[in-house]
Amino acid sequence: MSDAPRSAELFARAQRVIPGGVNSPVRAFRAVGGTPRFMVSGQGPYLTDADGHTYVDLVASWGPMIHGHAHPQIVAAVQQAATSGLSFGTPTIGEIELAEELIGKLATAAQAHGTTSPLEEVRLVNSGTEATMSAVRLAKGVTGRRKIVKFAGCYHGHVDALLASAGSGVITFATPDTPGVTSAQAAETIVVPYNDLAAVEAAFAADGPDIAAVITEAAAGNMGAIAPKPGFNAGLREITERHGALLIMDEVMTGFRVSAAGWYGLDPVAADLFTFGKVMSGGLPAAAFGGRREIMASLSPAGPVYQAGTLSGNPVAVAAGLASLRLATPEVYVTLDATARRIGALATQALAEAGVAHRVQYAGNLFSVFFTDQDVTDFAGAQAAETFRYGPFFHAMLNAGVYLPPSAFEAWFVGAAHDDRALEIIAAALPAAARAAA
Ligand code: PLP
Repeated sequence: MSDAPRSAELFARAQRVIPGGVNSPVRAFRAVGGTPRFMVSGQGPYLTDADGHTYVDLVASWGPMIHGHAHPQIVAAVQQAATSGLSFGTPTIGEIELAEELIGKLATAAQAHGTTSPLEEVRLVNSGTEATMSAVRLAKGVTGRRKIVKFAGCYHGHVDALLASAGSGVITFATPDTPGVTSAQAAETIVVPYNDLAAVEAAFAADGPDIAAVITEAAAGNMGAIAPKPGFNAGLREITERHGALLIMDEVMTGFRVSAAGWYGLDPVAADLFTFGKVMSGGLPAAAFGGRREIMASLSPAGPVYQAGTLSGNPVAVAAGLASLRLATPEVYVTLDATARRIGALATQALAEAGVAHRVQYAGNLFSVFFTDQDVTDFAGAQAAETFRYGPFFHAMLNAGVYLPPSAFEAWFVGAAHDDRALEIIAAALPAAARAAA
């Protein structure tokens, strides 16, 4: 399965009309080398490429596909919505239902934890990037402050002010500060190490009155999977509150994936603003940001902070999101967690047998392999791992029919459709891949 002549031909053609041949950099396989596979279809846990090769998919479109590909109920919901019209640019019933669904999931988790949910209103947008961009603008507008604290290795989309030390995509291309982000924009972003509350305290000691918000991935998934240390997110809540700054919890990756209420369901820290994407849209373009009513009231048209979108709340995307969220029963999360642990255990076994130093790390059911004998708790640790081993590992898996993220700094994503057969393919592929990494 190593050659992919049709994908190679398509990649050459794509490079003539699309920068680098791709519409999102990591897809280009730069970090692992070789030809990116052009996928033509997906079914359950499998993807099929233009050469007719089938792969067990551990990317899941970078997170959204918790029910696997082309789930019949989600496809039917999309078809039905499309039949009624593709876009109206008006309020619709579906967008109320989706907002209620998101708010309801966090409310249920809050109740189970004996607390009240901090998610009272949401605004729908089209991508996670838009969600974080808008949340940051709202935080700056509400506080009247201009600076943001973010963590090295956390990615929040390609928002100018947040493209500082932004994890996977940026690491892959070795451009920690991208041209096009001005020094004025960068100067408004303070970058501190992940999982380091003392560094956050120091940032507030130096710049407190100027800091509008701290933004964090609820659990880090863009430098590999790195869970927040116990008490880290709660510590951020306490520090921000003490200094009159807002806390923005970015759940674009974790939201509705690591539990029915995302990371909030596992660790209910009452952030001021949350951002969501990926799973909440079932694979179509939709995302959201939201928080307490008094903060969201500052958003136009109710308040002065402007935010808008031609396709925001698009009825087809909303229908896919609603179908995906309504299918996400408690059993789905049990399956996702168990599947992630089974694959992680298989990877551990194969790498141990091949004598390769490694850590399989989990953040809920997000997980990834670091080639190191140290626990990885921050970006420096992720970068210190022997990432050169990942390319051979990745290609051995690909050749054996397993599609992993084409970067060592990405989390692996499972879906509830990954069945025993899919796991057998992964189990069969791992020993040779582990030897290739040795
Ligand atoms: N925030 C996090 C935590 C993400 O992982 C991502 C994307 O991977 C984003 C924001 C940006 O989302 P999008 O790619 O939909 O713009």
